[in-house]
Amino acid sequence: VDTISRRQRSENMRRIRSANTKPEIIVRSLVHGLGFRFRLHRRDLPGSPDLVFPSKHRVVFVHGCFWHQHRGCTDGRAPKSNTGYWVPKLSNNKKRDKKNRSRLARLGWKSLVIWDCQTADKNNLKEVLQAFLAGGEG
Ligand SMILES: [Zn+2]
Repeated sequence: VDTISRRQRSENMRRIRSANTKPEIIVRSLVHGLGFRFRLHRRDLPGSPDLVFPSKHRVVFVHGCFWHQHRGCTDGRAPKSNTGYWVPKLSNNKKRDKKNRSRLARLGWKSLVIWDCQTADKNNLKEVLQAFLAGGEG
């Protein structure tokens, strides 16, 4: 007997779909498909990067275009209203990202940022990830 109502079922489907299309999931599955091993969210590294490749000393951040203010991206524009709230908040995010990446670099880690909008073109994204991860040491 099917005890889940139609409405509940469609709600479940919606949740599942959105979880599987989350940019971070897309990046993880592409990297996995390329055969690279990684760890998730190492809190001991600056910015706790989304994907960490310990033997390669490389990390990948998956950034939302709005929250991290993707330059030149339509989703990266700051809101026109309530600017007293948004402008400092978003610029602090950007400053923090920059600081984290330079701290990582000083610790010998190379970092790559993948933006939400880049996950729309999986073929291109795969090439970008491959190039970053297959790159020589140093
Ligand atoms: Zn973007």
